[in-house]
Amino acid sequence: MEIDISFHAMLRPLLTTSLRHQETIAHNIGRRTSIKDVIESFDIPHTEIGSILVNGNAVDFSWLPYPGDHIQVSPLGIPVDPCRASLLRPNPFPHLRFLVDVNVAKLRTYLHMIGMDTLYEPDLTDSELARLAVQKQCIVLSRDRGLLRRKIIDHGHLIRSQNPTKQLAEVLTYYGLQNKINPFSRCIHCNNVLQPIAKKDILNNLEPLTKKYYDDFSHCRACNRIYWPGSHREGMEQTLKRALQISQEWSGVYSSLK
Ligand SMILES: [Zn+2]
Repeated sequence: MEIDISFHAMLRPLLTTSLRHQETIAHNIGRRTSIKDVIESFDIPHTEIGSILVNGNAVDFSWLPYPGDHIQVSPLGIPVDPCRASLLRPNPFPHLRFLVDVNVAKLRTYLHMIGMDTLYEPDLTDSELARLAVQKQCIVLSRDRGLLRRKIIDHGHLIRSQNPTKQLAEVLTYYGLQNKINPFSRCIHCNNVLQPIAKKDILNNLEPLTKKYYDDFSHCRACNRIYWPGSHREGMEQTLKRALQISQEWSGVYSSLK
Protein backbone atom coordinates (compact mmCIF):
# COMPACT_ATOMS: atom_id res chain seq x y z
CA MET A 1 0.00 0.00 0.00
CA GLU A 2 1.20 3.50 -0.77
CA ILE A 3 1.31 6.58 1.44
CA ASP A 4 2.72 10.08 0.87
CA ILE A 5 5.17 11.28 3.47
CA SER A 6 6.85 14.68 3.72
CA PHE A 7 9.59 15.63 6.14
CA HIS A 8 10.12 19.18 7.42
CA ALA A 9 13.18 20.98 5.95
CA MET A 10 15.06 20.56 9.23
CA LEU A 11 14.67 16.77 9.09
CA ARG A 12 15.49 16.32 5.42
CA PRO A 13 19.30 16.47 5.89
CA LEU A 14 18.95 13.19 7.83
CA LEU A 15 17.49 11.41 4.78
CA THR A 16 19.61 9.53 2.25
CA THR A 17 20.96 11.78 -0.51
CA SER A 18 18.48 10.55 -3.13
CA LEU A 19 15.46 11.53 -0.96
CA ARG A 20 16.84 14.71 0.63
CA HIS A 21 15.45 17.10 -1.99
CA GLN A 22 11.99 15.57 -2.32
CA GLU A 23 9.24 17.56 -0.62
CA THR A 24 6.90 14.57 -0.75
CA ILE A 25 7.97 10.94 -0.92
CA ALA A 26 5.64 8.24 -2.28
CA HIS A 27 6.31 5.32 0.02
CA ASN A 28 5.19 1.70 -0.10
CA ILE A 29 4.62 -0.20 3.11
CA GLY A 30 4.13 -3.93 2.76
CA ARG A 31 2.18 -4.53 5.98
CA ARG A 32 0.33 -2.61 8.68
CA THR A 33 3.08 -1.00 10.69
CA SER A 34 3.22 1.88 13.18
CA ILE A 35 4.02 5.37 11.98
CA LYS A 36 7.09 5.28 14.29
CA ASP A 37 8.45 2.32 12.31
CA VAL A 38 7.61 3.99 8.98
CA ILE A 39 9.50 7.17 9.98
CA GLU A 40 12.45 5.18 11.32
CA SER A 41 12.62 3.14 8.10
CA PHE A 42 13.97 6.44 6.68
CA ASP A 43 16.73 6.27 9.33
CA ILE A 44 15.34 9.21 11.32
CA PRO A 45 15.11 8.31 15.04
CA HIS A 46 11.76 9.04 16.72
CA THR A 47 13.62 11.24 19.25
CA GLU A 48 13.94 13.90 16.49
CA ILE A 49 10.19 14.10 15.85
CA GLY A 50 7.97 16.76 17.43
CA SER A 51 4.67 16.18 15.62
CA ILE A 52 3.05 13.90 13.05
CA LEU A 53 0.03 15.01 11.04
CA VAL A 54 -1.99 12.46 9.08
CA ASN A 55 -4.35 14.16 6.61
CA GLY A 56 -4.03 17.24 8.85
CA ASN A 57 -4.74 15.48 12.17
CA ALA A 58 -2.13 15.00 14.91
CA VAL A 59 -1.39 11.36 15.80
CA ASP A 60 1.02 9.58 18.15
CA PHE A 61 3.81 7.11 17.33
CA SER A 62 1.55 4.02 17.59
CA TRP A 63 -0.81 5.16 14.82
CA LEU A 64 -1.21 2.75 11.86
CA PRO A 65 -1.22 4.41 8.41
CA TYR A 66 -3.90 3.63 5.77
CA PRO A 67 -3.35 3.56 1.98
CA GLY A 68 -3.50 7.03 0.46
CA ASP A 69 -2.67 8.84 3.73
CA HIS A 70 -0.76 12.13 3.55
CA ILE A 71 1.73 12.28 6.40
CA GLN A 72 3.67 15.37 7.50
CA VAL A 73 6.55 14.85 9.91
CA SER A 74 7.97 17.82 11.85
CA PRO A 75 10.88 18.19 14.27
CA LEU A 76 10.60 19.34 17.85
CA GLY A 77 10.25 23.10 18.23
CA ILE A 78 13.49 24.76 19.36
CA PRO A 79 14.14 25.29 22.24
CA VAL A 80 13.00 21.81 23.17
CA ASP A 81 11.55 21.48 26.68
CA PRO A 82 11.58 17.85 27.96
CA CYS A 83 9.78 19.05 31.12
CA ARG A 84 6.57 19.76 29.13
CA ALA A 85 4.11 17.05 28.09
CA SER A 86 3.09 16.62 24.43
CA LEU A 87 1.07 14.15 22.38
CA LEU A 88 4.23 12.25 21.39
CA ARG A 89 5.75 12.47 24.88
CA PRO A 90 2.98 12.43 27.48
CA ASN A 91 5.39 11.82 30.40
CA PRO A 92 7.54 14.94 30.91
CA PHE A 93 10.76 14.86 32.90
CA PRO A 94 10.90 16.59 36.31
CA HIS A 95 14.40 17.91 35.59
CA LEU A 96 16.95 18.49 32.85
CA ARG A 97 19.50 15.68 32.97
CA PHE A 98 21.63 14.29 30.15
CA LEU A 99 23.13 10.90 29.38
CA VAL A 100 26.06 11.24 26.98
CA ASP A 101 27.02 8.37 24.68
CA VAL A 102 30.67 7.38 24.28
CA ASN A 103 30.69 8.62 20.64
CA VAL A 104 30.37 12.23 21.90
CA ALA A 105 32.60 11.82 24.98
CA LYS A 106 34.10 15.32 24.87
CA LEU A 107 30.59 16.79 25.02
CA ARG A 108 30.22 15.22 28.44
CA THR A 109 33.20 17.24 29.76
CA TYR A 110 31.77 20.42 28.25
CA LEU A 111 28.31 19.82 29.76
CA HIS A 112 29.91 19.30 33.16
CA MET A 113 31.93 22.49 32.55
CA ILE A 114 28.70 24.50 32.17
CA GLY A 115 27.18 22.85 35.25
CA MET A 116 24.66 20.52 33.55
CA ASP A 117 23.60 17.34 35.34
CA THR A 118 25.21 14.79 32.97
CA LEU A 119 25.71 11.03 33.27
CA TYR A 120 28.39 9.16 31.35
CA GLU A 121 28.72 5.37 31.41
CA PRO A 122 31.15 4.36 28.65
CA ASP A 123 31.15 0.66 29.53
CA LEU A 124 27.41 0.05 29.18
CA THR A 125 25.82 -1.63 26.13
CA ASP A 126 23.17 0.23 24.12
CA SER A 127 20.32 -1.63 25.83
CA GLU A 128 21.80 -0.88 29.27
CA LEU A 129 22.20 2.80 28.32
CA ALA A 130 18.58 2.96 27.19
CA ARG A 131 17.39 1.39 30.44
CA LEU A 132 19.53 3.82 32.49
CA ALA A 133 18.07 6.76 30.55
CA VAL A 134 14.56 5.61 31.47
CA GLN A 135 15.43 4.90 35.09
CA LYS A 136 17.24 8.21 35.69
CA GLN A 137 14.99 10.24 33.33
CA CYS A 138 17.84 11.41 31.12
CA ILE A 139 17.94 12.99 27.67
CA VAL A 140 20.20 10.76 25.55
CA LEU A 141 22.78 12.59 23.45
CA SER A 142 24.40 10.43 20.78
CA ARG A 143 25.56 10.20 17.17
CA ASP A 144 24.22 6.63 17.04
CA ARG A 145 20.81 6.52 15.33
CA GLY A 146 20.38 2.88 16.37
CA LEU A 147 20.54 3.79 20.07
CA LEU A 148 18.04 6.66 19.64
CA ARG A 149 15.60 4.41 17.75
CA ARG A 150 15.09 2.31 20.89
CA LYS A 151 11.44 2.58 21.78
CA ILE A 152 11.91 3.06 25.54
CA ILE A 153 13.95 6.26 24.98
CA ASP A 154 11.52 9.17 25.18
CA HIS A 155 13.88 12.11 25.04
CA GLY A 156 17.09 12.23 23.04
CA HIS A 157 18.94 14.16 20.41
CA LEU A 158 20.99 12.99 17.46
CA ILE A 159 24.13 15.12 17.62
CA ARG A 160 24.81 16.34 14.07
CA SER A 161 28.26 17.92 14.39
CA GLN A 162 31.54 16.04 14.73
CA ASN A 163 33.31 19.01 16.36
CA PRO A 164 32.99 19.06 20.19
CA THR A 165 32.64 22.88 20.45
CA LYS A 166 29.87 22.78 17.83
CA GLN A 167 28.29 19.83 19.65
CA LEU A 168 28.12 22.01 22.77
CA ALA A 169 26.62 24.84 20.70
CA GLU A 170 24.09 22.35 19.32
CA VAL A 171 22.93 21.28 22.81
CA LEU A 172 22.87 24.91 24.07
CA THR A 173 20.65 25.88 21.13
CA TYR A 174 18.45 22.79 20.98
CA TYR A 175 17.52 22.90 24.67
CA GLY A 176 17.71 26.69 25.09
CA LEU A 177 20.42 26.48 27.75
CA GLN A 178 22.20 29.74 26.95
CA ASN A 179 20.85 31.43 30.10
CA LYS A 180 20.74 28.34 32.31
CA ILE A 181 24.44 27.59 32.52
CA ASN A 182 26.44 27.69 35.75
CA PRO A 183 30.08 27.27 34.69
CA PHE A 184 32.54 25.37 36.90
CA SER A 185 29.88 24.38 39.44
CA ARG A 186 30.10 20.61 38.84
CA CYS A 187 32.86 17.99 39.04
CA ILE A 188 33.96 17.07 35.52
CA HIS A 189 34.92 13.57 36.72
CA CYS A 190 31.86 12.43 38.66
CA ASN A 191 29.02 14.97 38.00
CA ASN A 192 28.77 15.95 41.68
CA VAL A 193 27.96 19.60 42.52
CA LEU A 194 31.09 21.35 43.86
CA GLN A 195 31.25 23.10 47.23
CA PRO A 196 33.51 26.06 48.13
CA ILE A 197 36.38 25.14 50.43
CA ALA A 198 38.66 27.43 52.46
CA LYS A 199 42.28 27.57 51.31
CA LYS A 200 43.53 27.06 54.88
CA ASP A 201 41.78 23.66 54.99
CA ILE A 202 43.62 22.26 51.96
CA LEU A 203 47.05 23.94 52.15
CA ASN A 204 48.83 20.60 52.51
CA ASN A 205 47.27 19.28 49.28
CA LEU A 206 48.37 22.18 47.06
CA GLU A 207 51.42 22.46 44.82
CA PRO A 208 53.67 25.45 45.72
CA LEU A 209 52.67 27.59 42.69
CA THR A 210 48.96 26.89 43.15
CA LYS A 211 49.33 27.85 46.81
CA LYS A 212 51.08 31.07 45.81
CA TYR A 213 48.78 32.31 43.02
CA TYR A 214 45.25 31.11 43.83
CA ASP A 215 42.86 31.82 46.70
CA ASP A 216 39.46 30.48 45.55
CA PHE A 217 38.97 26.73 45.66
CA SER A 218 36.07 24.34 45.36
CA HIS A 219 35.85 20.71 46.36
CA CYS A 220 34.06 17.59 45.12
CA ARG A 221 32.89 15.65 48.17
CA ALA A 222 32.30 12.53 46.08
CA CYS A 223 35.77 12.06 44.55
CA ASN A 224 37.73 14.49 46.76
CA ARG A 225 39.13 16.53 43.84
CA ILE A 226 40.03 20.20 44.36
CA TYR A 227 39.30 22.81 41.64
CA TRP A 228 40.67 26.33 41.17
CA PRO A 229 40.80 28.91 38.35
CA GLY A 230 43.90 28.16 36.25
CA SER A 231 45.13 27.93 32.67
CA HIS A 232 42.91 24.86 32.14
CA ARG A 233 39.86 26.95 33.01
CA GLU A 234 40.87 29.74 30.60
CA GLY A 235 40.84 27.22 27.73
CA MET A 236 37.37 26.05 28.74
CA GLU A 237 36.12 29.65 29.01
CA GLN A 238 37.27 30.22 25.40
CA THR A 239 35.42 27.08 24.29
CA LEU A 240 32.25 28.20 26.05
CA LYS A 241 32.48 31.70 24.57
CA ARG A 242 32.84 30.25 21.06
CA ALA A 243 29.99 27.78 21.60
CA LEU A 244 27.70 30.59 22.80
CA GLN A 245 28.58 32.66 19.69
CA ILE A 246 27.76 29.73 17.38
CA SER A 247 24.58 29.03 19.34
CA GLN A 248 23.43 32.63 18.90
CA GLU A 249 23.94 32.38 15.11
CA TRP A 250 22.08 29.07 14.93
CA SER A 251 19.15 30.32 17.03
CA GLY A 252 18.50 32.89 14.30
CA VAL A 253 18.60 30.20 11.59
CA TYR A 254 16.20 27.91 13.49
CA SER A 255 13.67 30.67 14.11
CA SER A 256 13.64 31.50 10.38
CA LEU A 257 12.81 27.83 9.59
CA LYS A 258 9.69 27.67 11.80
ZN1 LIG B 1 34.05 14.43 41.69
